[in-house]
Amino acid sequence: MYGYPESVAKLIEEFRKLPGIGEKTAERLVLHLLKTPETEALKLAGAIAGIKKNTKMCKKCFALTDQDTCRICSSEKRDKKTVCVVERPADMASIEKSASYNGLYHILQGALSPMDGIGPDEIRLKELFKRIRDEHIIEVIIATGTSVEGEATACFIADNIKKIFNNIKISRIASGIPMGGDLKYFDQVTLKRAMEKRYDFK
Ligand SMILES: [Zn+2]
Repeated sequence: MYGYPESVAKLIEEFRKLPGIGEKTAERLVLHLLKTPETEALKLAGAIAGIKKNTKMCKKCFALTDQDTCRICSSEKRDKKTVCVVERPADMASIEKSASYNGLYHILQGALSPMDGIGPDEIRLKELFKRIRDEHIIEVIIATGTSVEGEATACFIADNIKKIFNNIKISRIASGIPMGGDLKYFDQVTLKRAMEKRYDFK
C-alpha cells in the first residue's frame, strides 16, 4: 500500500476496519504512532489487549466491567429499587455523565428489530423481568432510544411488566430527545432534563 512496508500497511488496514475511520485517518494514525516513543505505542497495544482480556459483562446488569458485578451494581450508594433500561453500554455512560440518576441499570445489548431477526430472546429481556422479580424493583425507567426499534422495545417492556407484575412504576425518558435519537449523541443537559421530566408509561 503506497509503498509502505508491510508492517505499516498492515496496521493501516487494521485501523480501517474500525467504525468511523477511513483510509486517510488510518494512515494518519499509523504515521503518528511511528513518531511516538515506543513506550506510548506499547501502552496502546497493551490497552487494546487488556479490553479483550479483562472486560466482561456484569452478571446482573450486563454493563461492561472488569469484575463479576460492575461498580454500579455493587455500590452501596445507589438506589437498588430503581432500574433504568438502556440499549447499549454507551447509553449508560451518557446517563452517568449527566449525573441525573442514582439507581441501577439494565443494558439490553440491543433493541427489538424483527426485520433484523432480533426478537425478545436476542436481547436481555428475560433477565430484566427476572431481575424485577428477584430484586423487588419498584420503578423501571425505560431509556431506550427514540428510534422505531427503541420505541417498540419500550412498549414491549412496559406491556410485559404490566402483564407480569403489579404496582411497578414505569416511566419513559422523553423531553428534549428528538424522534430517532440515539442517547449517546445527546449532551448532558438534554439527558439530565429528559431523565428529570420522564413521564409515566401508559
Ligand atoms: Zn452491573
